[in-house]
Amino acid sequence: MNMDFHRKLTIPQEVKKQFPVTATVEKTVDEKRKELIDIFEGKSDRLVLIIGPCSADNEDSVLDYMGRLVPVQEKVKDRIMIVPRIYTNKPRTTGQGYKGLLHQPDPNSKPDMYKGILATRHLHMKAVEETGFIFADEMLYPENYKYLDDILGYVAVGARSVEDQQHRLTASGIEVPVGMKNPTSGDFNIMMNAILAAQSSHTFIYRGWEATSHGNPHAHAILRGYMDKHGNSHPNYHYEDLELLCDFYDVKTLMNPAVIIDTNHCNSNKNPFQQPRIINDVLVSMAHSERVRKLVKGFMVESYIEDGAQKVGEGCYGKSITDPCLGWDKSERLIYDIADKLSS
Ligand code: PEP
Ligand code: MN
Repeated sequence: MNMDFHRKLTIPQEVKKQFPVTATVEKTVDEKRKELIDIFEGKSDRLVLIIGPCSADNEDSVLDYMGRLVPVQEKVKDRIMIVPRIYTNKPRTTGQGYKGLLHQPDPNSKPDMYKGILATRHLHMKAVEETGFIFADEMLYPENYKYLDDILGYVAVGARSVEDQQHRLTASGIEVPVGMKNPTSGDFNIMMNAILAAQSSHTFIYRGWEATSHGNPHAHAILRGYMDKHGNSHPNYHYEDLELLCDFYDVKTLMNPAVIIDTNHCNSNKNPFQQPRIINDVLVSMAHSERVRKLVKGFMVESYIEDGAQKVGEGCYGKSITDPCLGWDKSERLIYDIADKLSS
């Protein structure tokens, strides 16, 4: 092959032996996973809020951000379950740019995949320990899932990965809810096929093993907007889109119909300040239709300490180096606003 093989990396089992989850982490993960599954099974009518930076680029600012969410969660816990985003590996449209903590534990230094694996596990574990939350990450590389499978609370399969067989089959062997995003083209069928594949059992090759998955009954849809052939973004969170998704679910025999609305990406045309308005719009749709209300389980919001985004190396603490985010003050207000609307 036309590539250099540097070193064989430590397998997940060994990394877990070296850095095992603490008793506190194990207890939190166990309890919070059950709470989250209750929402996806309709046993609890709280909404899920998957909120946090587009990419977890720096341990200090990410943990600072997560710590700020703790008192907010306490105040809204009867209506909202916060599952913050710690996204450690980033899909890139052209393959260029920052690919996440996994590739570059220090965004200003060269890639180091082993350090990245350890940094990712360290950050996820510390975040659970310090905050008592469970966290969401994207499964960009299915074979890496086992480095984190004892910690994560929620997994997303991204818009660029959702049509890929290995992602779908691996999702079918994951024990926490997996959100399958609509593809960048917006085709609902591709997303629904991904959910069906993830809810079914499969025998396939995983990390050199012949393995059989049990099917994931909590695989569900995420609507993130889409792009047309001219490169223009279009939203798909409107009432008509949600009704259409209900129709799609009605004709498929899927378990636990559910959707999370991603309020950034093509839904906001990457304008993070649109996110509160989009949530408001969806809440109105939910109030208008019982079947829409039942289908929508929550929101995914891109949020960090500072508004907007910066280039790698600009060095502004708590500002995104990938997609632009909603800053802390606006995000905090947004969470209280959602809670107020849910109680009125
Ligand atoms: C993201 O959630 O930051 C992301 C990359 O999403 P998508 O796959 O929808 O582009
Ligand atoms: Mn993003």
